[in-house]
Amino acid sequence: MRFAHFIYQETKHWGILEGKLLKVLQGSPFGEWKETEAMVSLSDVTFLPPCYPSKIVCVGLNYRDHARELGMMIPKVPVIFLKPPSAVIGHGQKIVYPSSSQQVDYEAELVVVIKKTTRYVPVENVSSYIMGLTCGNDVTARDLQREDGQWTRAKSFDTFCPLGPFLAVDLDPNCLKIKLTVNGEVRQNSSTSEMIFTVAELVSFISSVMTLYPGDVIMTGTPSGVGPLRVGDVVSVEIEGIGVLTNEVIAG
Ligand code: ZN
Repeated sequence: MRFAHFIYQETKHWGILEGKLLKVLQGSPFGEWKETEAMVSLSDVTFLPPCYPSKIVCVGLNYRDHARELGMMIPKVPVIFLKPPSAVIGHGQKIVYPSSSQQVDYEAELVVVIKKTTRYVPVENVSSYIMGLTCGNDVTARDLQREDGQWTRAKSFDTFCPLGPFLAVDLDPNCLKIKLTVNGEVRQNSSTSEMIFTVAELVSFISSVMTLYPGDVIMTGTPSGVGPLRVGDVVSVEIEGIGVLTNEVIAG
């Protein structure tokens, strides 16, 4: 089942995807909800992000193919960093290219959305703490990342965290095709089976560091093929069983 959060006729709703339609819900998947009789067309809605995280925890190097490409060692523990919630945008919203950067890169990522308060959760219990999965783009000002020697500025510009379009529940995260295109041309093409740390291992590890709250987001790292975006590009992240997250890049 896939949930969407959207605006229809100036009102925010949650819905369930049924073909090219959304069945409108009363309530939200993060609380009580029930189906209504109303159906709306995907083409008539404006997508919103599928969650409102209190924090976005990202994982550095987490794909074997990406480690090979960079000639880097496989990390022994996950390297984590944060993006601010103010960076989040939804499917169809614009990525703003900051004037302070000359190299803004895309990073296609499988995104985990947390269901309930999560702290010290063992690997084998993680699945009941996951609300669902969505597509994400960990947009990064690579030149500023190098210049600063740490990642906060490079990862944190407004609009640098597109999420969506759907929140897929009951989907096994361990073997999903993940692809990124720029203007229709394939740039990243891998599988979550290439992950160094599984989703369950990541959530368990992060929960041993910090309390995760409902709606919090874990971005699980990017596969090989990372590269630059230019103003005017249309970038899409497609993950099997979830959907296609598309955003256009505009000048800041
Ligand atoms: Zn990333």
